[in-house]
Amino acid sequence: MSITQSTPSAALPTALVTGGSRGIGRAIAQTLARDGFQVFLTYVSRPEEAEQTVAEIVAAGGQARAFALNVGDSAAVADFFAAEIKDKVDLAVLVNNAGITKDGFLVRMKDEDFDKVLAVNLRGAFVCTREAAKTMSRNRKGRIINISSVVGQMGNAGQINYASAKAGLLGLTKSCAKELASRQITVNAVAPGFIETDMTANLNDDVRASYVESIPLKRMGEAQDVAEAVAFLASDRAAYITGQVLAVNGGMYC
Ligand code: NAP
Repeated sequence: MSITQSTPSAALPTALVTGGSRGIGRAIAQTLARDGFQVFLTYVSRPEEAEQTVAEIVAAGGQARAFALNVGDSAAVADFFAAEIKDKVDLAVLVNNAGITKDGFLVRMKDEDFDKVLAVNLRGAFVCTREAAKTMSRNRKGRIINISSVVGQMGNAGQINYASAKAGLLGLTKSCAKELASRQITVNAVAPGFIETDMTANLNDDVRASYVESIPLKRMGEAQDVAEAVAFLASDRAAYITGQVLAVNGGMYC
């Protein structure tokens, strides 16, 4: 299942970043590797991007492996944890970053477009969290960080499915934080605003300009802006923070 890897390290704590092959996930993977984690990153459709991310981490002196894993496939997630995580690595951090959009207005949105977005963005995070919690509970430590969105906080026309999933992630975060606190596992969410990635690359100029106009800092965010917030929540500096939502949105929703 692993397509590419540096020499695996049993000594380093491991951070699993779903959808870590490109965009925000890539920046998170690189930043956690910078901070001393062995990074396991997953992708679903673009192995070459995953290869490149691993190569960049290794070139910078870090440790990384990439795995093909559709987080919308619960059985595949369970198999992955059994084969690659359980009793194999010290899983210190899970970042539920994998996400997709299938935009459309309410009256035209098909059931399958609603279900697909919920299956990847929300149920995928739930299933990965459930599997990670088993391992982390045994170790009595762990950090789980869910990548939500400003859209889950404020809503967005044309993104009913995506907003529902991202709002659902906030409920998942707060409930898991309460349930897992006794095991010394913290669970937090990061809610990015509009970030320059493939996901936002297709916005037309007018829409982009209107978004930027609505952002007090007057720019789109960079993936690294989000990665640094995740790195903080994964660090010892955030040991007493759980059940929180850290917005990284240039002030567009306070
Ligand atoms: P992106 O550039 O489209 O990258 C998405 C990543 O998720 C890729 O690595 C992709 O793998 C992976 N992925 C997609 N479907 C998957 C699945 N079923 N199972 C496993 N991995 C899957 O997206 P992004 O902009 O970096 O967004 C990352 C996260 O931040 C998402 O949860 C998104 O909703 C959230 N977010 C983004 C923004 C923004 O403005 N960009 C704002 C707020 C929140 P492949 O490369 O193999 O397809």
